[in-house]
Formats: sequence, structure tokens, C-alpha cells
Amino acid sequence: MDRTGAYQPEDDQLDFISFAAHELRGPVTVIRGYLDVLTQELADDGSSEHQALLSRLTVSANRLSTYISNILNASRYDRRHLKLHLRERALVDIYRSIGDDMALRASTQNRVLDVQLPADLPTVAADMSSLSEVFANLIDNALKYSNEGGTVTVSATADGNYVRVNVIDRGIGMPSNVVSNLFHKFYRSHRSRETVAGTGIGLYICKAIVESHGGQIEVKSEDGRGSTFSFTVPIYAAVAEKLAASDNSNEELLRSAGGSWIKNHAKYRG
Ligand code: ADP
Repeated sequence: MDRTGAYQPEDDQLDFISFAAHELRGPVTVIRGYLDVLTQELADDGSSEHQALLSRLTVSANRLSTYISNILNASRYDRRHLKLHLRERALVDIYRSIGDDMALRASTQNRVLDVQLPADLPTVAADMSSLSEVFANLIDNALKYSNEGGTVTVSATADGNYVRVNVIDRGIGMPSNVVSNLFHKFYRSHRSRETVAGTGIGLYICKAIVESHGGQIEVKSEDGRGSTFSFTVPIYAAVAEKLAASDNSNEELLRSAGGSWIKNHAKYRG
């Protein structure tokens, strides 16, 4: 039974949620800062057991921080405020900003993370922190929904005026009725609600961020065999003129795409 509707809070609940998320962000940033300091200090003279415990703490603190920014982004998106500044970026640099954290998440969960991002890809028009969040959410899912010892592959290719990124896992996969609900806010499949921790907001916000860049996100999945999530981001050279005309804001880019983003927006609200 599809109970997606039961997971949609009313507007005033969302206000409270985003207020709470905002308040949590400060202390979590402080915790992550001190964890960094401790990790550096223990790197030389801590026991390997202490270092392993600290790694686990760091992974959890970083995940908490991702959840918080997802919630904040989702509430902004619901109010149609996902206004981004897109700049020329190399995909490898965007990934590098979260690469260590992803490697740590993979190793603490006993998964293999295989990242193959060619250095000679064209540069893209991106908001660094938002797009790194998309990487983090998709990789986090691919790791979570994989089996012990499984491999998650991240790859990218040029595709017309876009760069296409693929996050591939050979994990539990999904039946087609789950796939059709996937990008709805707070949707989680029955199976994952019972077995894996999560909020059901990650893919909703991935879609919001990717579409706010003028790209698209899609999934192919086979139940029991794994999933491939892929998203596109415009090549910088293809949109440079439009960005220059609007002070690098994404608004002109989305307007000139025929307003389809604005039109489709309502469809993704819940
Ligand atoms: P969360 O992972 O916090 O539940 P998401 O919005 O990221 O929230 O994902 C929504 C649901 O989509 C998950 O609960 C899970 O059922 C399914 N899902 C997402 N990614 C995968 C994946 N790589 N393999 C299998 N199922 C997935």
C-alpha cells in the first residue's frame, strides 16, 4: 500500500522542523570542529582502537550535518527559494570536498568505494556545496543499501551539453512500485523503514538541487540486484552567457529552459 501521503507534514510543522534544524546546525559544527582537532592529535600518539572509535564518531557527526542541511534545503525549496549561484567548477574538485568523508563512510561500513572521475571532463556550472550534497546523499544511499563487502562505483561522462554522473551499487535494488515514489518527500520503502536508518528526504532534495542547476536525475533499479542513480549538470561553456547575464544566478537559466522547472515544481512538492 502506498502511504506516501501519511509522511507529508503541514506547513507549520515544516516551519518548526526547519527552525529546529537551524538551531542544531551550530552545535553540530562545533562538534565536528573538535572531532577534527582530536583526530589530528590522536593521529600521532593515539591507539588504533581510539582512532577507529573517533572515525565512527566523525562519520556520524558528518551524517547528522548532511541531514540538517537536507532539511534546511528542503524547507527552502518548498518555499521556492532554492536560488543558487552557479560558477565554473571541475567535477573532481566538487567530489574532493567530500571525498575523505565518503571514503571513511565506506570503510566503516565495510564497503568498497570505487571513484572514477576523469580529470579531463569539461567544467560544469555548479554550486559547490549543493552539488557535493547530491554526491554525498547518493553515495550514502548506495553504501547503505549495499551488502557487506559490496562495491559502489562513481563515474562520469560528457553527454551533449551536460556531464552525466552515475552512482552504481549492486545492493538490494528496488521493485518498480518503489521507484515511482522515490523522489517524493519523506518517502521510504517499507523495507528500509524496518531495517535502515534514514529520513526519506535525501532524494527529494537531490532532485531539487539537480533541477535547480538545470539538470535531471533518474534511477534504474532491479530488485535484488542493485541500482544506478544518475544526474546531469550543464557544461559551463554551454550556459556561460546566460549566467553572465544574470550575475551567475540560476534564475535566468531556468527561465530560459521554458519555465519547465517552475511548472514542474508543484509536482515534486510532496
Ligand atoms: P533515506 O535513505 O533517508 O530513507 P532517501 O530519500 O535518500 O531517504 O531515499 C528514499 C528511499 O529510497 C529509501 O528509504 C530507500 O527505500 C530507497 N533507496 C534510495 N537509494 C537506494 C539505493 N541505492 N538502493 C535501494 N533503495 C534505495
